[in-house]
Amino acid sequence: MARCFICDKIYQPGREMTCSDQCHQELIRQLIAEFGQFQKLVRASTGLAYKVATRDIIEQGVREQDLDQYPLWEQTDQARRAEKI
Ligand SMILES: [Zn+2]
Repeated sequence: MARCFICDKIYQPGREMTCSDQCHQELIRQLIAEFGQFQKLVRASTGLAYKVATRDIIEQGVREQDLDQYPLWEQTDQARRAEKI
């Protein structure tokens, strides 16, 4: 048995972390609020950092070979803002 991360209800395993689509959307909303819209993922083989949507990481998982389809982190406005902090 698994316990819903959002509403604390016990549910049948088979879903990731939540009992329903509604709770899943709430989970995504909370994680984006906490961690931001994008995450910085570094490709181990090249050392390059990519800007990956938090939603993609949660919903489908992002493998190293998937990183090619994302922009490099250094090219983003978010990266420039982070450097000033
Ligand atoms: Zn739930």
